[in-house]
Amino acid sequence: MKIILNRNKLIKFIDSEKNLGFVPTLGGIHNGHISLIKKSINQCNKTIVSIFVNKTQFNKKSDFKKYPRSLKKDISIIKKLNVDYLYLPTEKQIYPKGPSKNIKISPFGKRLCGKFRPGHFEAVVDVVNRFIKIIKPKKIYFGEKDMQQLKIIDHFVKKNYPNINIIPCKTIREKNGIAYSSRNFLLSTKEKNIASKIYKLLLLQKKNLNKNKLNLKLLKIKILNFGVTKIDYIKVLDINKLVRPFKKKCKYKVFIAFYLRSIRLIDNI
Ligand code: AMP
Repeated sequence: MKIILNRNKLIKFIDSEKNLGFVPTLGGIHNGHISLIKKSINQCNKTIVSIFVNKTQFNKKSDFKKYPRSLKKDISIIKKLNVDYLYLPTEKQIYPKGPSKNIKISPFGKRLCGKFRPGHFEAVVDVVNRFIKIIKPKKIYFGEKDMQQLKIIDHFVKKNYPNINIIPCKTIREKNGIAYSSRNFLLSTKEKNIASKIYKLLLLQKKNLNKNKLNLKLLKIKILNFGVTKIDYIKVLDINKLVRPFKKKCKYKVFIAFYLRSIRLIDNI
């Protein structure tokens, strides 16, 4: 595996790659990331993974500072997977003239997390756009765990880079049901148990959706009683139309964002 820090060196290495798969990450590598990497290795001639904790997409400085960083361990995991290239860019190389101010994203970017994290998705699209220009991948892998991000990027890439495919990847969960996330490294055992209870409750309650019996207000109260610090939202949306599922046969999902202490977790079930 080639580990590359320099943008121009990277471009030289990958310039002739015809079928390059790209897995962008913030690091804190876990089984969710690993599933994306394995899928890329299966589908592409070569795979490049990036680790870059993109400051601009964090709304709070404290969240950026405490974001789990485990570079040594990450490198050893990625190496074992037989990844071809690992790109570890510096902030200067990604933003030589600072972040963009006029990134346009789909209107869906204003809902769910977009409502509570203003500018977050614009910053994510900005950094992905910058990576695309450097790496020129054929396929980019994103997890359904961050469904809203996946949909917003898919919309952006279809519009601006029709030759690049965004490949959605299933959410990978721990035995207790919690979706793998780098932020889980910050949770205590007690907090993990709460997150697990929430997952199990949502899974159970989702069945009531078919019977139009899902009471979101009651669900919120139950979840707060588990010991959650704050709920940003619980919403039911059709993932194809991204509107509320008024019809029975919609592909609906329950979207949630909540805090355990100051740690913000999201999921969709
Ligand atoms: P992150 O490092 O959190 O930005 O995640 C990098 C990529 O991995 C994103 O496309 C995420 O959606 C994806 N991802 C994170 N957690 C999971 C998971 N539990 N299952 C599948 N994909 C995931």
